[in-house]
Amino acid sequence: MRFVSCFCLLAALAWLSGCQNGAISAAPRPKDELLILVSIDGFRWDYIDRYDVPTLRQLARDGVHARRMTPCFPSKTFPNHYTLVTGLRPETHGIVSNWFWDPAFAETFGMSKDASNTEARWWDAGEPVWITAEKQGVRSACFFWPGSETDIRGVRPSFFRKFNGKLTSDQRADGVLALLDLPAERRPRFCTLYIDIVDHAGHNFGPLSPQTAAAAHEADATIAHLLAGLAARGLREKTNLVLVSDHGMSECSPDRVVFVEDLMDPAKVRIESTGPNGGVRPLPGTVSAAELAASIRAKAPPQLHVYLRDEMPANLHYRNNPRIPDVMLVMDDHWNIESKIGWPSRRATYVKGSHGWDPATPNMGALFVANGPAFRRSREFAEVENIHVYNLLCRVLGIAPAPNEGDNRLVREAMKR
Ligand code: AMP
Ligand code: ZN
Ligand code: ZN
Repeated sequence: MRFVSCFCLLAALAWLSGCQNGAISAAPRPKDELLILVSIDGFRWDYIDRYDVPTLRQLARDGVHARRMTPCFPSKTFPNHYTLVTGLRPETHGIVSNWFWDPAFAETFGMSKDASNTEARWWDAGEPVWITAEKQGVRSACFFWPGSETDIRGVRPSFFRKFNGKLTSDQRADGVLALLDLPAERRPRFCTLYIDIVDHAGHNFGPLSPQTAAAAHEADATIAHLLAGLAARGLREKTNLVLVSDHGMSECSPDRVVFVEDLMDPAKVRIESTGPNGGVRPLPGTVSAAELAASIRAKAPPQLHVYLRDEMPANLHYRNNPRIPDVMLVMDDHWNIESKIGWPSRRATYVKGSHGWDPATPNMGALFVANGPAFRRSREFAEVENIHVYNLLCRVLGIAPAPNEGDNRLVREAMKR
């Protein structure tokens, strides 16, 4: 009996250490390998099958492919780009939406405001991978990425560019290739590349439009251009590529809109966001957040779910930050909450696609492909959450990750042993 329990204990210990070995058994990578992280904004998980994207398909077929990567709530650009590079959920890294009010600063963060992109105080609850890398002696370059235009606790990437939406996707790829032409002691070992044409087409024409198909094809051609540039420099065999998107895209229409003004008195609230999810706070001296939530709930149509911040569904992990509005208005897929201000004319130009809905919604799924000497070959798995990407990037670069909310499951799935 004692032998049996002893054996069981040993077996359990062996199994446990096997698991741990599994987590750390990825072979250390040679120090001359490069890592390029490419984001194709708004590239829905199923576009790789639907559209003419031969380069991405080949990279996925030869390398590692998650059928669907699950973003964080809200499935918006800035929160998810920062999650991809920090391993932290938006409630933890603090970029809780593309636009949000910070009650301590009494100011609004906005994705297209220069100050928001350059002031560390908005971003410094997270440590992006380029900072982790620089701190450990790995030179990094960001050819656009939310959060790359600021220092974090005094550290910056060696190279970064102020966001310029006018540069074509190929010009951005050429920018990365030019950095790889630098002399060895200045050359970055980690680069980001950001492409946004697929997101634009998805918004303007819808996810299943010919225009979005064309944009996906064009983004694919840029990846082919990048690969050709790497090959011409003799770098293809030394380069690890991680290709991701931040979220998917869903159809919407001005006929599936709920109006803020039909639910509350807009003079008594600060409207902090609208779209696939809305957020409001009662103005000082009006009502409590609980009273506001109850009165909205009494009028809410079935497509609208009203939560106090502290009542947000646990699986959305969206409670623990004062930047999250007091009252959240979460819409079902395809539905938006909007203000009536300017509506008759806005109706005519209303977006045909959007994102921001619950990450579990099938249409919100994102892209994940990894290919290069660090990665396994021809490996496909069903799903991974984007909080795990940061640990993978750190492992490929051979650097120690900062504390984060992901684990090593992507290291185990994706990396060569
Ligand atoms: P959205 O679809 O509203 O979540 O945001 C996507 C848009 O964000 C893209 O169309 C880009 O033009 C814009 N964007 C992406 N990165 C940045 C950046 N670093 N700075 C400013 N705007 C950006
Ligand atoms: Zn986006
Ligand atoms: Zn978008």
